[in-house]
Amino acid sequence: MATYQNILVAVDLSSESEVVLQKAQLIADSNADIHLVYVQEPMDNVYVGIVPQSAAFSGLGDLEAQLGEELKQKLAVLGDDFSVPSDHLHILNGSPAHEIHRFAKENDIQLIIIGTHGQKGLQLLLGSTANAVLHGAGCDVLSVRIGVAR
Ligand code: AMP
Repeated sequence: MATYQNILVAVDLSSESEVVLQKAQLIADSNADIHLVYVQEPMDNVYVGIVPQSAAFSGLGDLEAQLGEELKQKLAVLGDDFSVPSDHLHILNGSPAHEIHRFAKENDIQLIIIGTHGQKGLQLLLGSTANAVLHGAGCDVLSVRIGVAR
């Protein structure tokens, strides 16, 4: 069976990202391309329905740009730690599952690797990023269990 040569690793830039990346490196062929993808959600998406639109969102653009810079730096440090070349580090904007699907399709990704927590109760009903990515993915998806003793 051919191995995966083009892999997308979805990272949320929390400390969990390292667990997901370690697993990716374990299973990836030494000459496979690993792309790290972080999706920055627009702030007005996150807060819509919670605070009134017009007044609350003035100045949000600046804050978002500043946050984007900090996220870029975090991604660069993670890429450095795991020897991922800078042209394989991607910050996308939008909804995580949608952007991950779009990137995977446009870049012929063969495997998406994503972290997942054991989902129970309300979390199970509400879903998770991993669930959303799994549904509708056009390639294989590996979900790496986080925080579970093995
Ligand atoms: P969550 O469902 O938010 O707990 O996230 C579980 C996993 O989904 C993380 O370990 C990442 O692999 C991925 N993920 C969550 N948020 C993002 C994001 N904004 N961009 C890329 N991947 C993400």
